[in-house]
Amino acid sequence: MVTRRRFLGTLGAGALIVGFDPVERAWATGPGSGGLQRIPHLDGVLLTDLATRQADGRDLGRIVKRLPRAVLRPGSVRDIQKMVEFCREHRIQVSTRGQGHSTHGQGLTDGLVIENRSLSAIHSIGADSITVGSGALWREAAHTAEARGLTPPLFTTYVGLSVGGTLSVGGVPAQNNLGVQIDHVRELEVVTGDGRLHRCSLNHERDLFEVMLGGLGQCGVITRATLDLVPARALARNYMIRYQVTETARVWNDLHILLDRGEFDGAYLLMSVPDGRNITYQLNAVVFHNADNPPSDQHLLRDLSVFPASAEIENSTYLEWVKRYDPVIELWQRQCVWDDLLKPWFDVMLPGESAQAYVSEVMPTLTARDYGPPTGIGFLFPQRRDKLTRPFFRIPPGNSKYVYLFDILTSSPAPGPDPAFAAEMLERNRRLHAKARAIGGTRYPIGSQDFTRADWRAQYGERWPDLVRRKAKYDPDNILTPGPGIFG
Ligand SMILES: Cc1cc2nc3c(=O)[nH]c(=O)nc-3n(C[C@H](O)[C@H](O)[C@H](O)COP(=O)(O)OP(=O)(O)OC[C@H]3O[C@@H](n4cnc5c(N)ncnc54)[C@H](O)[C@@H]3O)c2cc1C
Repeated sequence: MVTRRRFLGTLGAGALIVGFDPVERAWATGPGSGGLQRIPHLDGVLLTDLATRQADGRDLGRIVKRLPRAVLRPGSVRDIQKMVEFCREHRIQVSTRGQGHSTHGQGLTDGLVIENRSLSAIHSIGADSITVGSGALWREAAHTAEARGLTPPLFTTYVGLSVGGTLSVGGVPAQNNLGVQIDHVRELEVVTGDGRLHRCSLNHERDLFEVMLGGLGQCGVITRATLDLVPARALARNYMIRYQVTETARVWNDLHILLDRGEFDGAYLLMSVPDGRNITYQLNAVVFHNADNPPSDQHLLRDLSVFPASAEIENSTYLEWVKRYDPVIELWQRQCVWDDLLKPWFDVMLPGESAQAYVSEVMPTLTARDYGPPTGIGFLFPQRRDKLTRPFFRIPPGNSKYVYLFDILTSSPAPGPDPAFAAEMLERNRRLHAKARAIGGTRYPIGSQDFTRADWRAQYGERWPDLVRRKAKYDPDNILTPGPGIFG
């Protein structure tokens, strides 16, 4: 017979929990003693088998591990409410997991992991909005909308990410003048840290709405989101122009010309090492169009440092463009076991005034150690400052028209644990962050960095007291999303 003392790692696959032993601080599958706190009836399942817990005990970064005590596969939003209430009562920490594509334990906990993939329904779609479960992937939202000639206005490069996951961080797209994904959310359904269910928007419970958008899951679990839709154009034409790493002045100049003219739907830089040795900048500029209105290459690429004819052109459907990096990730997964490489990514928002100097200094210092097997190693996404409207998406102060997300997507040379490599790259990230902070840079918190409370306080700046207040209001016992280490 399984007793209340046989718990966690000793439970067999698929064992279902009946209660929590507050003395042992452990889940139990048997009747136990009188002290056993029975878990509420659930529509879904609560799992403690080792395989499930191990899978949810790591993320794509493969650097941080934290074995959860249990995993909830919710059958309903009510399940999340019940388990959050239960965990609050027993001081068990709770994290929500989208696709687990964070790189430094942001969504991990040794308490309860809520896998929200089961909340992936497309609830409704109208002429200008779509309501989806937070576990839906952006790719799924894109397909549903496209069938009606519509689209969410913005996507991340890779669209196998969950809606709840990117709304918790920001969701920075290739487009430059429309803000980020969280700027296009109309309403959220959220379970807060006291188990209550809320619907919030700019006009209703704004305090909660704001702190959930880019708020790193500190105040609640997003269960449903209503997102903007806009008419989709059928086709995309992407122009790619290559420059050597020594040609930074030229590439920045060309990028600025395109940004100033505003004729493209999006322009950004991809940094790669196609030959494994030399870094190349690739300026990508995309224009969406319909078949009856094709773009003029000569006109769009006029007055750049290169002849228009030297740009490589990729024509595709709009949806193919949205999904353009999915095959790349799939190729890496096959070629170099990409999922199991360590990914000490560095991600920072830079002020426009000093972004060029910062990137130009940092890029030439990177070596093969900083790249890893995949050939793509970084991005630079310009974003119009005045379109970034959400207060907890932290951007550098200043007056520059644009701020820039700069990513270095480092991978380890081989799969498997490599503590020395992880330590070396975390130290690099610490150094690069300090250099960025000195010019006003802020962390885009998807990457790998050890952040102290003082670092978080600096990150939130004048917003810090407001974050502390909202945290106390919505997660009074501080059980939600311990991974980033903001509240200890
Ligand atoms: C290949 C690749 C490409 C990427 N490209 C881009 C890009 O172009 N632009 C960009 O901005 N980012 C990009 N990212 C980063 C990505 O946006 C974040 O890592 C995002 O958080 C991943 O989504 P996820 O579903 O895996 O979230 P997870 O990693 O599962 O979760 C992220 C955080 O949000 C919390 N969370 C998750 N779901 C919820 C919820 N429903 N309610 C409350 N909190 C929740 C988690 O606890 C965790 O702290 C990329 C990542 C990868 C792997």
